[in-house]
Amino acid sequence: MISENIMVAVTTILYMISAVLFIRGIKLLGKADTARKGNRLSSIGMMIAVVTVLLEKEVTSTISNPPLTNAYIWVAAAIALGSIIGAVWAKKVEMTGMPQLVALFNGFGGLSSLLVALTQYMTDKSINIFSSVALGLTIAIGAIAFTGSVVAWGKLSGKMFKKNIAIPGKNVINAIFALIGLGGVVVYSLSIAGIADASVGKIGIIVVSAVYLILGFTMVISIGGGDMPVIISLLNAFSGLAAAFAGLSISNSVLVVSGCLVGTSGLILTLIMCKAMNRTLYALLFGTFGKTSKKGGSGEQKEPKSMSVEDAYLILEAASSVVFIPGYGMAVAQAQHAVKELCDKLEENGAEVSFAIHPVAGRMPGHMNVLLAEANVPYEQLKTADDMNPQMANTDVAIVIGANDVVNPSALDDETSPLYGMPIINAFEARTVFVLKRGKGTGFSGVENPLFTNDNTVMIYGDAKQTVSSLVSEFDEA
Ligand code: NDP
Repeated sequence: MISENIMVAVTTILYMISAVLFIRGIKLLGKADTARKGNRLSSIGMMIAVVTVLLEKEVTSTISNPPLTNAYIWVAAAIALGSIIGAVWAKKVEMTGMPQLVALFNGFGGLSSLLVALTQYMTDKSINIFSSVALGLTIAIGAIAFTGSVVAWGKLSGKMFKKNIAIPGKNVINAIFALIGLGGVVVYSLSIAGIADASVGKIGIIVVSAVYLILGFTMVISIGGGDMPVIISLLNAFSGLAAAFAGLSISNSVLVVSGCLVGTSGLILTLIMCKAMNRTLYALLFGTFGKTSKKGGSGEQKEPKSMSVEDAYLILEAASSVVFIPGYGMAVAQAQHAVKELCDKLEENGAEVSFAIHPVAGRMPGHMNVLLAEANVPYEQLKTADDMNPQMANTDVAIVIGANDVVNPSALDDETSPLYGMPIINAFEARTVFVLKRGKGTGFSGVENPLFTNDNTVMIYGDAKQTVSSLVSEFDEA
């Protein structure tokens, strides 16, 4: 029989190993060429953490007590079921469905922490005040992360909550909810301290859970357009923080470490996104978002001009500087490899080619960078809006590939636009702008784009991959 002390030492060491693997994994995820290895290391760390939990004294002693003798079978069944669903889902998902899948997984993280906290409350009779506060925070943050992420999933997949619903007096309503929830935490903490009755404590815990579940919903439902990416990374941070507090309340060090890693990296990403989007966190959460103006710009409505691929080739053939501006449509069309081919043809033809990458282009942070890295576009060719905008006026052709919101000039001058205030790639300043899209579809924010009717803009309608491949063929045939 292994002594208890040795078991404690072994589990502590295993927890440390998994924490180190998480940290190393995150570091490797920072670069495209080491990202796969980072993912693998983090997964191994997670597997070690899960196995170690099952070796913990509290778990083994619970399991040796009837009627839970077959608890390991339940755990194994849950792991098998979760792994099968996760693996099939991840394999089946299209690249364009990845952002909503990530949002949903994020929400499940929040839900798990919420359930851990509720189970701890129901089963642990020796909770102290410190654990009770940690439990309250786990429930509150986990609940917001869960319902907020479900709304984000609905918005990203276009299946639900597509319209930004402006809730009148949203801040007051949210503040009332938050206060009621806080009241619930106080009530059940008093019951834990023995000052209030246990049944009152139970009501308190139900109130906290219900109120914060609603709060997650009301917080995210009115957010759209350029603010969605920021709120998604904030929800990501919330799910990490909820896990960290859950770790504190059940005294599990690896949960605290992994939760803090997710929480802090999510918060850092949120702040970086806020800066890139010209928003403050305060304005995002408490500002008057959800303006539903559909128009873009104040000029009279004109029809966009369109051009054939053959004519577009003649302009490109004469261009000495070209900037590609990719967006979500490039991901939908999976046009990145064709774009790289066109980039090579243009360079062979003597043109200087760059890529202008907007921080929220696509549907997840770094979406365009990942796609273009997959197509072997050199990292040095990817430029930020700050790098490219000053040069845009001297650019012969800007090729907008399935981007819409990130090149919408109403973000600069139309105060009624939900995009107002978001920095854009100033494609409209280029001498000629080609916009490659299938038809008259709006972007994620659902607003019209005045760029399409500018005098220097021509639309090339069709699937982006087909259009770009046809342009490559024109160069081949020349
Ligand atoms: P948009 O969503 O604004 O526009 C995409 C455009 O692509 C559409 O107008 C569509 O027009 C076109 N398109 C779709 N499929 C194809 C295809 N096969 N071939 C050619 N064109 C196609 O994309 P942007 O990248 O400009 O902007 C991203 C938006 O998403 C921003 O509003 C951002 O806030 C939001 N967002 C970003 C997140 C992130 O982390 N990056 C997360 C959540 C939201 P048509 O139908 O006519 O073809």
